[in-house]
Amino acid sequence: MAYKICIDPGHGGIDSGAVGNGLKESQVVLPIALEVGEIVGKHGVDIVFTRKTDVFIELNERASIANNANVNYFISIHANSADSAGKGTETYAFGPGGQGEKLAGALQQSMISSGIATANRGVKFANFAVLRETKMPAALVETLFISNAGDAEILRNRKHDIAVAISKGVLNFLSIPFDSSVFNPQQPKPAVMYRVILDGVQVEALSYQDKAEAAVREAVDSGKAKAGKVQRNTDGVDLYFYPPAIDYEKELCRIIVNGKNLVALTGKTKCINWAKANYEGHVVIQCVKNNVVIAEFDNVNPAKPKLMYRVILDGVQVEALSDLVKAESAVREAVNSGKARSGKVQRNTDSADIYFYQLVKK
Ligand code: ZN
Repeated sequence: MAYKICIDPGHGGIDSGAVGNGLKESQVVLPIALEVGEIVGKHGVDIVFTRKTDVFIELNERASIANNANVNYFISIHANSADSAGKGTETYAFGPGGQGEKLAGALQQSMISSGIATANRGVKFANFAVLRETKMPAALVETLFISNAGDAEILRNRKHDIAVAISKGVLNFLSIPFDSSVFNPQQPKPAVMYRVILDGVQVEALSYQDKAEAAVREAVDSGKAKAGKVQRNTDGVDLYFYPPAIDYEKELCRIIVNGKNLVALTGKTKCINWAKANYEGHVVIQCVKNNVVIAEFDNVNPAKPKLMYRVILDGVQVEALSDLVKAESAVREAVNSGKARSGKVQRNTDSADIYFYQLVKK
């Protein structure tokens, strides 16, 4: 499942945040935050913004946006202010010891290692509303000081680099490798081609889907291949099967446990559930129609008792054996020796009679 994060560009609208060196915090952090969302979003993370324009949003409303969207993490992006000497990057979490601190640490670390931070002011803790009111781990990065001439110059001219540094921190925290190809959207898209795949091996790729489908049919109908499919190259999606793909949920399937063919039921899921509930051991589910193994697993600790075969002579159970062959021969032996008139073998797990034996009078 994809991560979902909320990105919160600080301040906005009537709340300009810090002002200095010709910059307004609200307007500096917005493009940085939007680009962080774009970069991280291109790595498969769902992005929710608290604002995407220069509007004023209450602090508790920012937390509500994140809470209502059920995001995994919250990241607020700000610029700092102090006397003109203060400079560098610091990142806040609500308190120590949690994921919020780790997230803050990842953002701080990336700002340092990218060379954007003019000083490492470290990870700090603060009772900020957006850190307190958000239900998920949250961090607030104070990128650089708007009140410092050197920092302000970076905020003015290197917003992209700041956005990349924050994005790398987020991705690193999420253990998602950074992919620099997201910066080359202009790369020509590959032409859509349709792969002709016969018995699992691609033999050619054609520009037209209908021609690819015809090639698959021809190969199968002529006996050149047992089965084929057409696959789109751009996303690897299978578009066509010939012969048509079997829906195993509608097919009769064998349940084979420890090499013994026990029973056949309709539907793959039903067979899997049946085997898991009733049988212990190595389970193979096989489609009766094409003998394809559609599931295979080792089942231990089933809820039901171990599979046994009841030896029932003249309607009375005399023993239960784990080996079907031995149970059957026990029945035959009893009947052949005159100990019983008839006998049968019954499976304990579902009480199905699976073997009958009696002597036929001549
Ligand atoms: Zn701020």
